[in-house]
Amino acid sequence: MKNAKLFVSIAIFIAVVVALILFLWQQRREVKVTDKPLVVATVPHVAVWLENIVGEEAQIELLVKEQVDVHEFTFTPQDSELLAQADVIVANGAGLEPWLANVREQLPNVPLIETADGLDLIEDDPHTWLDPVQAQQQVTNAANGISATLPTLAETIDVNLQIYLVTLQKLDADIRAQLATVSQRKFIAFHESFGYFARSYELEQVAQLVERPGAESTLENVAEIGDLIERNKIKTIFIEPGAIPDLAATLRDEFDVELRILDTLETIVPERDAYLTRMYDNLEQLVSGL
Ligand SMILES: [Zn+2]
Repeated sequence: MKNAKLFVSIAIFIAVVVALILFLWQQRREVKVTDKPLVVATVPHVAVWLENIVGEEAQIELLVKEQVDVHEFTFTPQDSELLAQADVIVANGAGLEPWLANVREQLPNVPLIETADGLDLIEDDPHTWLDPVQAQQQVTNAANGISATLPTLAETIDVNLQIYLVTLQKLDADIRAQLATVSQRKFIAFHESFGYFARSYELEQVAQLVERPGAESTLENVAEIGDLIERNKIKTIFIEPGAIPDLAATLRDEFDVELRILDTLETIVPERDAYLTRMYDNLEQLVSGL
């Protein structure tokens, strides 16, 4: 009788252990589903660029999913597991992903490309990609880095790169041409995200609604921003996709400004044309709102 009880206990124990192992096995993030190289983009706009320059030649995966705010992202062991399977990791850099140092430390053998390397950076501002001039350099850096790591793809990547660069150059020329007709060069945006864009196209962001990306907007600086609106004859405040922040709604009501959307591309679904369509949308908003 005693033996039978012991036997049942052992059997139950073994069953639980087996179930646990099966559960953990299923939880493993086995991402590589093709024989193609696995290229991981840290953030959505980088994934969009990779869709254009690498396309079908590789399996492209995104680390910081589009529903997550990149400025709030924290790096977990699961993320490490995804990155460990990568043939190459492509990041924005310029401080957008402060956890890249951990990635380099944990995965010293996985090549990691920071596409903003070599750019003329603005201190504490990682939003390089919102400037098509910088974006052309970043896309080129991504292409060169991937080609060096995966030389069999180099020829295709170079052809794709040249085609994509032409579209980015056209975007740049279109922005210059359309903004040339606008006399108002000052604007207010939600967070300090269009600094590189402003530098390239001679605009000036005079204020933002939140102190730092990811922070909640508060009503504390209504008077201060209102003063800037009146002094600079600003007629639009550019917010980001999503809910209208309280501060923006208050400013709209008290200072008779319009609200328009400027997309930072931080939460886009990484479809092939997403960079170009969103940037043209931004241009349209700017031309109408400035
Ligand atoms: Zn941002």
